[in-house]
Amino acid sequence: MESKPANNFLQQIVAEDLESGRVSKLITRFPPEPNGYLHVGHAKSICLNFGLAQRFGGECNLRFDDTNPEKESPEYVASIQEDVRWLGYEWAGEVRYASSYFQQFYDWAVHLVEQGDAYVCDLNAEQAREYRGTLTEPGKNSPFRERSVEENLDLLGRMKAGEFDEGSRVLRAKIDMASPNMNLRDPILYRIRKVEHHQTGNDWCIYPTYDFAHGQEDAIEGVTHSICTLEFEDHRPLYDWLLEHLPVPHRPRQYEFGRLNLNYTVTSKRKLKQLVDDGVVSGWDDPRMPTVSGMRRRGFTPASIRRFCEMIGVTRSDGVVDVAMLEHAIRDDLNENAPRAMCVLRPLKVVLTDYPEDQVEQLTAACHPSREDLGERQLPFSRELYIDAEDFREEANKKFKRLVLGKRVRLRNAYVIEADSVVKDEAGNIVEVHAHTIPNTIGNDPEDGVKPKGVIQWVSAAGGRQATVRLYDRLFTDAAPDKGDKDFMTLVNPESLTVVEGAWIEPGLAAAEPEQGFQFEREGYFVADRFEHTEAAPVFNMTIGLRDTWNNG
Ligand code: ATP
Ligand code: MG
Repeated sequence: MESKPANNFLQQIVAEDLESGRVSKLITRFPPEPNGYLHVGHAKSICLNFGLAQRFGGECNLRFDDTNPEKESPEYVASIQEDVRWLGYEWAGEVRYASSYFQQFYDWAVHLVEQGDAYVCDLNAEQAREYRGTLTEPGKNSPFRERSVEENLDLLGRMKAGEFDEGSRVLRAKIDMASPNMNLRDPILYRIRKVEHHQTGNDWCIYPTYDFAHGQEDAIEGVTHSICTLEFEDHRPLYDWLLEHLPVPHRPRQYEFGRLNLNYTVTSKRKLKQLVDDGVVSGWDDPRMPTVSGMRRRGFTPASIRRFCEMIGVTRSDGVVDVAMLEHAIRDDLNENAPRAMCVLRPLKVVLTDYPEDQVEQLTAACHPSREDLGERQLPFSRELYIDAEDFREEANKKFKRLVLGKRVRLRNAYVIEADSVVKDEAGNIVEVHAHTIPNTIGNDPEDGVKPKGVIQWVSAAGGRQATVRLYDRLFTDAAPDKGDKDFMTLVNPESLTVVEGAWIEPGLAAAEPEQGFQFEREGYFVADRFEHTEAAPVFNMTIGLRDTWNNG
């Protein structure tokens, strides 16, 4: 069925399981907790789980692991679905919720109690910690461990009925307080939480823990390969223990892979939420955020994110990936696919004194140097136009290949011009350059043999439009902002956002569709803002600069 060689150990395992007949159809799942927006780490897990299903003709479920109602919300539930779809994946059947299995989990908890495999424990949190032992010392049995089945059933029923306060009792599995694996020291299965749930309202006041929910969710859904990150490796014995002790309809298996860590980036929903809550960024979808919605607004394409996930691969060890690799993936995509356009970020007016005042020429330019299918665009050319202030100097040495007084430069897609004089304001700032065109230089070198040194972008005052352009830099100044005892909140780059008002853009850009990406020649890749860009008031976000800093050699 699958003949391509495996790219990673999980593809290898699945291929073997299908071949040996251990499973007949691959079922994976992506199981986010709806307590924040998805980030680039989740994208790795999405590409992995949905990608495996695609490759092996299987199915992937989208399941909300919604067992902690206090931190969850319908906003997150909605955003996660939108992000998964935007990345290009469709889940099998309806969206699933762990909360829709709450009654089944409870029935299974009762089953464990009846088997003598679970008990209600009244130790408070501090006592429970003492009894738990440490990595080097075994724990001690809870004094409530030997309660009778009848008493446990009675207490569990009353926990469910809301008779006890939060924190006063928990349900625990009866496994082994001396196990070297802390997860097997009578882990908690249910806690009392008197909070409303976004899906089940006030039906429940006890909620299952991650460990008591996850494997059972997988079993209910017929998941064959339950793939999670390495920190759950030590939970696997508990995952298996529960499945062995419950009358589940199916036996899933858990596999672990190394999570994605990126330098200059935090990938923890809790920390990302803090950036949002403290107003450091404008929201979860601020283009500086490593969230899927932030990257989307920044101008990343789904294909570039999928490509990045392919490039980093899937391994059994944790590592830190250079964020330059993510930047490389989008730059590569846009270099290939983004139409070219001109934008002047720091406008300096140029008056072409030889050019008739009422004349406007329509020049045409290719939208892409090698993609004829992207067509051509019209560029009006007129007596007044704008160039970038950094592209002009009164005097300069030979290394400055732009416009200098008395010298020539080519206006991209248009004429060669020569600068004659400047106009300054009272403070001595140059406010205008007077220049003249060199005749017959569209597509030709000057006839007098004096060639221009460089090419610069420009926008005609006639037909050109003004826009807001947002320039971005990395959100953190430190390569590892949340490692060790560093406080990531103090390492935010104060210059991560620069808003340029009154940039000049070529006329066609105003009509760009939101989310359409462009290369602004000599500046970088930019995207029309998904929410704020309009034809009347254009807004562009910088996706990434032109220079590739990822060393793939
Ligand atoms: P966070 O630490 O950001 O809260 P989480 O692991 O708690 O993330 P979940 O909603 O539980 O978030 O994650 C859903 C799935 O995404 C899980 O299977 C998890 O293993 C995976 N995942 C989360 N973060 C990463 C990451 N950095 N790299 C790869 N997979 C990840
Ligand atoms: Mg989590």
